[in-house]
Amino acid sequence: CGIVGYVGSANGERAEAVVMEGLARLEYRGYDSAGIALVTVDGVESEKRAGKLENLRGALESHPLDASRTAIGHTRWATHGGPTDGNAHPHLGGTDDKLALIHNGIIENFHSLKKELLAEGVGFASETDTEVAAKLVGRAFDETGDLTTAMQQVVNRLEGAFTLLAVHADQPGVVVGARRNSPLVVGLGEGENFLGSDVAAFIGYTRKALELGQDQIVTITAEGHQVIGFDGTPAEGKAYDVTWDAAA
Ligand code: GLU
Repeated sequence: CGIVGYVGSANGERAEAVVMEGLARLEYRGYDSAGIALVTVDGVESEKRAGKLENLRGALESHPLDASRTAIGHTRWATHGGPTDGNAHPHLGGTDDKLALIHNGIIENFHSLKKELLAEGVGFASETDTEVAAKLVGRAFDETGDLTTAMQQVVNRLEGAFTLLAVHADQPGVVVGARRNSPLVVGLGEGENFLGSDVAAFIGYTRKALELGQDQIVTITAEGHQVIGFDGTPAEGKAYDVTWDAAA
């Protein structure tokens, strides 16, 4: 329901703070659970809780996560699987659960994909449609070693409506997003970049935005961004300046 992604150049608490603020700004959309994943020196660390953002904030206060410059955060409106801690996003995948992924929307063909993965011995920790995408992108990263390539391979197998964001422990400093029938906006900063399901996610930091087109994938780092289509060809988002009205 709400999605935030961030990469900055300074290793510290900013990534977590920016994502938590973005989630708070997206609260008006309504949600039943919230979660966050950070790429730290120890790999991908995540925390998620059913209920209000306050529950996630409390969990982070009692078990602080390590410093990070890369983070993704999610507020969930449950469609597949009840609003529980375990079904909250992010979901993990790949070798040693090094990949974390969040999702807005519905993956219509998740059932057949899940059957295929179960038959191959892949275990699941939730009842969500989303976890199928986490397992697939995690496995594609294990094979290709690149998050953008992994995302591109997998989105072409998914049907339905989705905005996906993913981070991987072996590619710190990178967030990859993809969208089909669901919104995704890039926020362009100085030495830091943002992703949001809505400009409200990053309006406290930048007014320079880039709206992604249908079936596009964006890769952000602290220094820049790159857009491709689901077919892998170079593409461009639509640049615009966020006006006060759009931010209200
Ligand atoms: N279908 C996913 C789930 O139930 C994502 C729902 C959402 O958009 O928040 O977990």
